[in-house]
Amino acid sequence: MENVAIFDSPGKGRGLKATKEFWAGDVLFSEPSLAAVVFDSLAERICHSCFRRQEKLQKCSQCKFAHYCDRTCQRAGWAEHKQECGAIKAYGKAPNENIRLVARLMWRLDKEGSVVSDMQLITVEELEDHVADMQEDEIKELKVDIHNFLDYWPRNSKQHTIDDISHIFGVINCNGFTVSDQRGLQAVGVGLFPNLCLVNHNCWPNCTVILNHGNQSAVNTMFHSQRRIELRSLGKIAEGEELTVAYVDFLNLSEERRRLLKTQYFFDCQCDYCKNGTKDDLKLAGREVDGVKPSEQQVKEATDYCFQKLETMDKARLDGDYHQVVKICRDVIDRTEPVLADTHIYLLRMWSTLSEVQAYLQYFNDAAEYSRKMVEGYMKLYHPNNAALGMAAMRAGVNHWQAGLIEVRTWDGV
Ligand SMILES: [Zn+2]
Ligand SMILES: [Zn+2]
Ligand SMILES: [Zn+2]
Repeated sequence: MENVAIFDSPGKGRGLKATKEFWAGDVLFSEPSLAAVVFDSLAERICHSCFRRQEKLQKCSQCKFAHYCDRTCQRAGWAEHKQECGAIKAYGKAPNENIRLVARLMWRLDKEGSVVSDMQLITVEELEDHVADMQEDEIKELKVDIHNFLDYWPRNSKQHTIDDISHIFGVINCNGFTVSDQRGLQAVGVGLFPNLCLVNHNCWPNCTVILNHGNQSAVNTMFHSQRRIELRSLGKIAEGEELTVAYVDFLNLSEERRRLLKTQYFFDCQCDYCKNGTKDDLKLAGREVDGVKPSEQQVKEATDYCFQKLETMDKARLDGDYHQVVKICRDVIDRTEPVLADTHIYLLRMWSTLSEVQAYLQYFNDAAEYSRKMVEGYMKLYHPNNAALGMAAMRAGVNHWQAGLIEVRTWDGV
């Protein structure tokens, strides 16, 4: 690890800093997961080895729980599934994703020792668990998980103390990293990447995390089953500068970001964007037309209406009732678009969802229009190199192309 070093970050504890200068897009390090699992809800739809979404997956004939693209994936995933497979059979069912991840981690550490490669900067034992900071209901959940873990953990595997087990549950609770599918569009599982755990949060970070070189379809053979992340620089980073990533989306109000960070990661964000509430005004702003602004009351009413409908929209989307989603979004947009600015975060969520669903339903003109509005709003809020912005711009481009709004030029003519 010649590019980065552990250091004491003032007010944050341990952190990582750059040991030389970097430019936008540079890879600071790349790291395979120590362990990773597919979410419970997607266990039959995502390959347990390469984490790709596939129409047809093959079941492990032993446990009937693990699913794979093909023999190649199954073979590649066998080392991490072998003990799990036996344990699931003996237990009679698969335990939840937390328990599966903790068990996979423990089997690996028991077998290979606490440092599995010379690139690893920190051991799992040394990572923060924040068990002492947990609320009462979280402690309750932790106890249930530990109880079930003990039932699931085979007697012939190495036995651990309750403290050690609870430490690992705590570690994955605050350090587990969400892994997405091959297109980067859907969260499909969770894994542990020890070096990445050392990178502290900033709401306006200088780095971003890319999965599998941003292109899982190119990942094959050697790295087929390895979920790798890359830490990439978003802009110029000076030698000695602390490296940061955003643990929560910047498209939340600063108060909401701080709440999320406190409950999930147990710290108070001290970044300038939170302290000054930077861009909070834009995120709830009214639309100015020809120098005329809507009244505060109008903006508030439209904001409340939008917020209240987000929940029903999310529910319809989860139920897969896409025509209902379109209906809700259209109604909200018709009513609030004249009043709310294009940087209003609730309106942005409506545009984003509507463009996604319309693209799915193949109404590409609509999808193109709303994704264009979304990107224009995002550009006023996000860091120019933000990954979510890049993804949104790509989606908008695809929608415009599908809608026939982009002329494809060939090289021989003009
Ligand atoms: Zn696969
Ligand atoms: Zn199996
Ligand atoms: Zn902050």
